[in-house]
Formats: sequence, C-alpha cells, structure tokens
Amino acid sequence: MAIRKITEYPEAVLAEAGKPITEFDEELENLCADMFETMYEAEGVGLAAQQIGLPLQLFVMDCEGIKLVAANPEIVSRTGEQSNPEGCLSLGKVPAVVVRAEKATLRAQDAKGEWFEREAGGYAARCFQHETDHCNGKLFIDHLPKMRREMVVKRFKKEKNWK
Ligand SMILES: [Zn+2]
Repeated sequence: MAIRKITEYPEAVLAEAGKPITEFDEELENLCADMFETMYEAEGVGLAAQQIGLPLQLFVMDCEGIKLVAANPEIVSRTGEQSNPEGCLSLGKVPAVVVRAEKATLRAQDAKGEWFEREAGGYAARCFQHETDHCNGKLFIDHLPKMRREMVVKRFKKEKNWK
C-alpha cells in the first residue's frame, strides 16, 4: 500500500468525468487500498479517484460506520433536504454550507464487481453525494453561488500560501 498525492483545486482532472470501471481485479483492489490509506492519512471520510489524479468512476468512503468501495456509483434516490457545512480534501477542507438531499440511496459495484444499493441519511448521505459528484467531475463548490464559491477558493489559496 502507498499513500498517493492528493490532487488539489484547480487541477484539471478534478473537473473530468470518470471512465467506468470494467476490470475488477487485483490492480483495482490495490488501488482501493491506496485510496483508503491516503484518505485516512488525510483524515477524510471519502476519497474519489479524481483526487489522486485518476479520472475514474471510483470512490472509497468510511463515514459514520459505512465503509465501502463504490465503482460506477450513481445516486438512485434522494429525499428531503439538509444544509450543512462540507469540505473537501482537494480544497484544504475549507468549509462551506451545501444544500444536499437528507437521504440518499447509492447504487454501485464493490471491488469484486457486485452491485449493491445502500441508503444513508445525514452526514453519510452527504458523503455519498459529494463523492459521486467527484466521479462526475463536479466539486462541492459547484453547488455554491458564485460569491461563496470564490470565497472558498480564496481562503484555500491563502491557507496554502501559509504552509
Ligand atoms: Zn471532495
């Protein structure tokens, strides 16, 4: 296993829609192991392939007891609404309030290629939606009005310069 470098905004791969996963082999398992390790090291709860520079339909998450690999993810049902602060490892975890569905059902394939559906609410549902967005080249700031989006980017750049 290896810790990968996390891709940061505005690298182009973050805006790329992922290619579907078609091979469920050892290479994919190793990639997922790296993604988990990279996510834990960064103290995140989810990580998409785009965030380590690979435009793929793939993410891993470990959030509120839901630990899974999602290949070719899709949100098949959304109900209710929540407004909560959200951050992203690719934007230095600078938080901003994002409106999301309160409950979401994720449909995806696991690392072996088995299809599954998983429903979650609250924080884990936000994670489903945030990571599935990544797989489609979309960032959480894309859900924000222009002014707030610019504020997040500004703060992220500022904090980066401090390091
Ligand atoms: Zn993110």
